[in-house]
Amino acid sequence: METILEKLQANNIQPSFQRIKLLELLDKKREHMNVNEIYDELIKEIPTISKTTIYNNLKAFVEKGIVQCLTITPYEMRYDIDTTPHYHLLCKKCNKVFDVNAKCKNTEALNTEGHVIEEIHGYFKGICKWCLSKERQI
Ligand SMILES: [Zn+2]
Ligand SMILES: [Zn+2]
Repeated sequence: METILEKLQANNIQPSFQRIKLLELLDKKREHMNVNEIYDELIKEIPTISKTTIYNNLKAFVEKGIVQCLTITPYEMRYDIDTTPHYHLLCKKCNKVFDVNAKCKNTEALNTEGHVIEEIHGYFKGICKWCLSKERQI
């Protein structure tokens, strides 16, 4: 697997300390974080970092295909370092986003009529198993 440094260099992105830390965080905590959550983590290590810098770097990563952004919630973007096609589940209780393994008949039978599809996003909404087990204990 490519290292973070190699990923940045391969995409002609200057591997600054902040960019490396940002990608390391997304790689370590695969929680589909939004900008605020990413900021709250990075500020612990980089007190000078701003949300604008984080947002701009994420935007560049998305454009280069290093990171994918999810619009599973209408009011924010979530970021995922796993850019392979996979589906997501939003828990309506805790608002966390999880990867789900699902086979989709609609995409298997897809007729693109000559169009090129580069991304497939599948969003599921429900209650995660952790929230369900909490409810059962009450
Ligand atoms: Zn939950
Ligand atoms: Zn994901």
